Amino acid sequence: MNPINEKYLMKITSRPDVVMMHGQGSYIWDNLGNKYLDFIQGWAVNALGHAPREVSQALAEQASVLLTPSPAYHNAPQLKLAERLCRLTGLDEAHFSNSGAEANEVAVKLARKWGRIHRRGAFEVVTTHNGFHGRTLAMMAASGKPGWDELFPPNPPGFCRVPFGDVSAMAGAISERTAAIMVEPIQGEAGVVVPPKGYLQQLRQLADDANVLLILDEIQTGVGRTGSLFAFEQESVLPDILTVGKGLGAGFPISATLARKRASCFESGDQGGTFNGNPLGAHVANAVLDRILEQGFLAQVRDSGLYLLSQLQRMAGTWGFREVRGNGLLVAVELGSEIAADVRDTAFQCGLLVNAARPKILRFMPSLRVTRAEIDEATERLSECLASVLAAA
Ligand code: PLP
Repeated sequence: MNPINEKYLMKITSRPDVVMMHGQGSYIWDNLGNKYLDFIQGWAVNALGHAPREVSQALAEQASVLLTPSPAYHNAPQLKLAERLCRLTGLDEAHFSNSGAEANEVAVKLARKWGRIHRRGAFEVVTTHNGFHGRTLAMMAASGKPGWDELFPPNPPGFCRVPFGDVSAMAGAISERTAAIMVEPIQGEAGVVVPPKGYLQQLRQLADDANVLLILDEIQTGVGRTGSLFAFEQESVLPDILTVGKGLGAGFPISATLARKRASCFESGDQGGTFNGNPLGAHVANAVLDRILEQGFLAQVRDSGLYLLSQLQRMAGTWGFREVRGNGLLVAVELGSEIAADVRDTAFQCGLLVNAARPKILRFMPSLRVTRAEIDEATERLSECLASVLAAA
């Protein structure tokens, strides 16, 4: 008998016919005993790999002391995490949520309020085509994912989009209605699209000149993924609002919206949420930061990222890759034809988890603690899968 009874789950995607049971580091095992080398890691979430000791310890410590006093009262882990993130980023105030989409909703609410107060009622947020900011109704409207506009009309107003990486298009879209511009430093879900160098700096300049806010969505690129704590540090810009999620809890759901003083305009009653800033999530995030900020950790991410890129580049000629790109451990290859889904499925059968971000694009987002030996294992298996898919084509 098939042990998987999907009858009571709403259909939102199709999943392979196995149940994931447990994980350790870069590996995960299913109910049939199959072992997979995981280069998806919860969708760039498990920054410290599967079942990290730091997270299980932090969960146990905090769970036995205080799960939540309710958001009506202060708790120590939240106060500590807010101060730490502000000091680390150079922003001034933080608010915590439970997912990336929620953190971005908070960012847009701040921008709308700021626009009302400081720009005569401006409310619009300019985003980018093929961007991804989450799946609430407003964040679907903010995202530029092809086809989404038709899914759940009517779409919340207040967003317009321009091509990613194009500063003149962004400048042209700013009007008296604009309160903010919002981009990912690298478009993750679009297939690791890296903008031209200087893009963020030019957007910062544009935002300053036009007196609008710059919101950076670092849900995917933040917390060490690109080899610095945040990707914006590599371009020496400071956003007005920054959103953080995924790796912040290394598998535990917690996200944050940080803002500079000038943009942090909430008053009492403007924002809330039952679980916001709960001590369980905040204590875990503090433990994750302890590890990521340890001497040498981020240098190791940079080194592993360069190694992964170089191994994939080495394979490019043999397998006809059009491009190998990325930053840190957020990496993608553009294949010569639309075989990404076949390669993903074949890799799954061979014990390797990779993401087919687009029909021609494979994305890799391993644990930030991935080893060179694991990268070698992944690229060797990938070569075998490519050989088998191309032979069958
Ligand atoms: N923003 C970016 C850049 C993302 O990559 C994602 C998720 O992939 C989100 C927002 C949404 O985060 P969540 O799924 O936690 O709501």
